[in-house]
Amino acid sequence: MDVRAQISMVFHLDKCIGCHTCSLACKNVWTSREGAEYMWWNNVETKPGTGYPTLWEDQTKYRGGWEVKGNILRPKLGRRLGLLSNIFFNPFLPTMDDYYEPWTYKYGQLFNAPQADDQPTARAVSKVTGKFLDVEAGPNWDDDMSGSSIYARNDINLSALTDAEREALFRTEQMVFFYVPRICNHCLNPGCVAVCPSGAIYKRAEDGVVVVSQEKCRGWRFCVSGCPYKKTYYNWKTGKSEKCMLCYPRIETGQPSSCFHACVGRIRYKGLLLYDAERIESVAKTPDAGLVEAQRSLILDPNDERVVAAARKNGIGDDWISVARKSPVYKFVKEWGIALPLHAEFRTLPMLFYVPPVLPVLASNTNGSYDLGNRDFFGKVEDSRVPMKYMAHLFSAGNEEIVKKALKKLMAVRAYQQAKSVGNLSVGQASAQLAEAGCSTDEAEAIFRMTALPRFEDRFVLPPYHREEAIETTTETIKQKGETGLGFTRPPKRGP
Ligand code: SF4
Ligand code: SF4
Repeated sequence: MDVRAQISMVFHLDKCIGCHTCSLACKNVWTSREGAEYMWWNNVETKPGTGYPTLWEDQTKYRGGWEVKGNILRPKLGRRLGLLSNIFFNPFLPTMDDYYEPWTYKYGQLFNAPQADDQPTARAVSKVTGKFLDVEAGPNWDDDMSGSSIYARNDINLSALTDAEREALFRTEQMVFFYVPRICNHCLNPGCVAVCPSGAIYKRAEDGVVVVSQEKCRGWRFCVSGCPYKKTYYNWKTGKSEKCMLCYPRIETGQPSSCFHACVGRIRYKGLLLYDAERIESVAKTPDAGLVEAQRSLILDPNDERVVAAARKNGIGDDWISVARKSPVYKFVKEWGIALPLHAEFRTLPMLFYVPPVLPVLASNTNGSYDLGNRDFFGKVEDSRVPMKYMAHLFSAGNEEIVKKALKKLMAVRAYQQAKSVGNLSVGQASAQLAEAGCSTDEAEAIFRMTALPRFEDRFVLPPYHREEAIETTTETIKQKGETGLGFTRPPKRGP
């Protein structure tokens, strides 16, 4: 067992209101500068939708992530050596049209225009050409399903649905959407690291944050293709790649990442996970249906004495181990099993997790009035407005049972709380629903407290950093990194 530590995050999608405050907080802190105008290290997408950059999930177009061929795990884009021999040719990049042409407005015009019969207007001006621009695309162009007939219908996750299911999803009265905030997943098997010919991207040994060395980056942009989440960006001004680094300068000083801090819906949870680095490769090779479970099995129980001993042997201090025991992320992912990785089938082993949204049909419109029919108030998972196949495509590598199990538990917790506070369902009935979902009443209470009533210190549980000791390890790690993203071979020195 090779125990490592990873800072991780959970997004509770039922709580996301799609306000984009997180995106703007990140933009203001990190990418509000020339060359980075189009970068959204944090963006929020409406699903169904095509996202940003458009159709980022389509790996036939971009060749991001990994594939297993004859039991060999390799980056879809190709191996580093092959890429190095062809550094000036990479056709699998998003173009400016896939992102958008960044623009600003001629604000001065509003104040300085000569007197005339009409109000002055501030027209959009391209930040690339400096010319007037008719804005036709942007990072949130299909926000709230705006233009869904063009955008949402092209969502690649809908490919799992039959024509009838698609039609049902888009029928006006059943139209439904939800938000998916996205940042870099700080993967355990990062596609970006694996394809970088200059070795500029690396995973920090002490906390798993994936960063780009601005000194080493040569601007070849293979990382942009290799990341299946499209979370590395090329800065046209500096000629280097950039990406989310989980606000490590903030977390090292005990502050939450900007997106976390700004989140209006308080949907984000941050904590530490311990995992077994020895099994990364074998887990990443697991067939799709078993991938989520396999990834879960990589995450280790910080209360298990064998894990603790192995962690200590790797230099993980007791202060970090005790923080891992209080991790809200561990609870969501491992204990409760209600937080799932986004597109596990990309095989990068993403280390951010999502609580899928519960979207049951609550009522129908009968002759202009609200009609519950014979549904319970919160409905049933089977009646979900979004077909399970779609959810499974996003959150469980196509395995419907996994996403259904998580949603059932979430709905049973709701029913239980409803029974206690509203009383239109007996606690006995609600407890039976809990039992069916494999959830005890204690667990239901804990999930309720963590999702509905968490304090800041429940949502944000990070260890004290010993950065000075980690610098040396990180340097060694860069030197030793193997050809794939799996190579961070020295245990970190850390702890008192
Ligand atoms: S491959 Fe993973 S770690 Fe690398 S940029 Fe993409 S999401 Fe981040
Ligand atoms: S700030 Fe929070 S609630 Fe608002 S869009 Fe971002 S993740 Fe969602």
